[in-house]
Amino acid sequence: MSSPRTPAPARLGSLLALALALLALACRPILPAVEAPKPTRVKATPPPSLTLCWVESGRFGPATASALVIRHPAGDVLVDAGNSLNFLAEIEVYDPPERRRLRRLPGLLVPKTGLSDQLKAIDVDPAGIRWFIPTHAHVDHLGGYLDLPPIPVLLSAPERALIERGAEERLNEVVPAHAAAIVPHANTLDFASGPYETFPAHADLFGDGSVIVLPLPGHTPGSVGVLVTLPEGRRILHVGDAANDRKGIRKRWAKPKLLRWTDGDRPQAEETVAELHNLVEAAPKIELLPAHERSAYRKVFGAPSRACPRPIAGVDAPATSPAR
Ligand SMILES: [Zn+2]
Repeated sequence: MSSPRTPAPARLGSLLALALALLALACRPILPAVEAPKPTRVKATPPPSLTLCWVESGRFGPATASALVIRHPAGDVLVDAGNSLNFLAEIEVYDPPERRRLRRLPGLLVPKTGLSDQLKAIDVDPAGIRWFIPTHAHVDHLGGYLDLPPIPVLLSAPERALIERGAEERLNEVVPAHAAAIVPHANTLDFASGPYETFPAHADLFGDGSVIVLPLPGHTPGSVGVLVTLPEGRRILHVGDAANDRKGIRKRWAKPKLLRWTDGDRPQAEETVAELHNLVEAAPKIELLPAHERSAYRKVFGAPSRACPRPIAGVDAPATSPAR
């Protein structure tokens, strides 16, 4: 005997699928379009020996905590530093719920080897790094700085102010030990190089367009992204935690609901995602690197770098200073 009605388990299954689809939509709303300004192209003439390397300091499933090393003849630049080796000791200052939260998320990405040793293993002298540029002040981006010799730090003005406040009072956004280590070496990035593609402002680190810092506020007040143009023309944009994954930027989705609380200023963070969307619409060849999306690093680098060749010294000295 046949029944025209769908059997109950199948109905349940499709209802469940529908509920999940609706939930996914509710979790990742499509952001309203931000009017895209006409792109301003900035020419890049990267030195032929410029290299970009991936240092993975922590990994958990599809998530990574990583650093980038940009080797330019005028100096090495470190972008992000992952967690500190002393993560657990450094978060002791917080009350138990905050400690639990930190252990459950960034705490899964604590390194086994200090960043200094990881850099030395790929032929980068940590003491010789010209600038450290954290994409933002959170624990899993600043912590590794404590494993390095003191090197100059470049920060946007709002992020510098946040870190300075974090050295004075206990803030959840900045671990006090990290703030105390950074403050004496902080310099303010000057976004005085005018519009860049669809962005209203940028800092051109070496004056040759090879390393561009873009303001990406919202996740923290002064988050930044770093866009590197390699000699062969590839353009790689590290967006920090401005977006969770590449898809979020391409589809103009906000962060998944579960992670939205990590944004200090949600409307601002959503505007930044929309601006990043406009940028990749205008320059679709830009390869995106959200800080924790391991598969994005795999796509750009294949695997963590096993060596990071030193560029030829003495050529292409920077014409401008990005700091004031
Ligand atoms: Zn992060």
